[in-house]
Amino acid sequence: MSTVTTSIVTPDGPVLEEDYEMVSCTAENGELGILPGHIPLVAPLKVSSVRLQIQGRTDYVSVSGGFLEVRPDRVTILAQSAERASDIDVDRAEQAKQRAEKRLQDKQANLDQIRAEQALNRAINRLDVASHAR
Ligand code: ATP
Repeated sequence: MSTVTTSIVTPDGPVLEEDYEMVSCTAENGELGILPGHIPLVAPLKVSSVRLQIQGRTDYVSVSGGFLEVRPDRVTILAQSAERASDIDVDRAEQAKQRAEKRLQDKQANLDQIRAEQALNRAINRLDVASHAR
């Protein structure tokens, strides 16, 4: 079985370090599927899910953007925040989603539209990834 060692790291520390047969993620330019032996690559990621496949199982991790670095035997993702599906607090993400939606609806004069949209995006992504928790 050919695998690539994959690590996901945030400023708070490592979130994951394991071997996988395939790593799928969403770069700013589109979907990437990384297999062992992939050519070296660096790419910015969207707020999105990272899907990690091994022996018929898929692990899901949410990332709030960041960077992907690929080397033939290693995949590294550096992100401002990242959570495994089972570590996501669904109530917290739901509350963050509602807060951001309310801000965007109320449109108060001091609204930071982009910040509210980014918060909404992170919350929706976490809820999506949490739905894959095993
Ligand atoms: P919130 O408003 O709930 O703090 P946020 O999107 O502003 O959400 P971030 O700034 O992206 O939060 O993350 C701050 C820290 O909290 C990070 O360590 C992140 O992993 C963690 N975190 C945020 N939301 C959740 C969640 N729903 N479940 C688990 N950890 C979370």
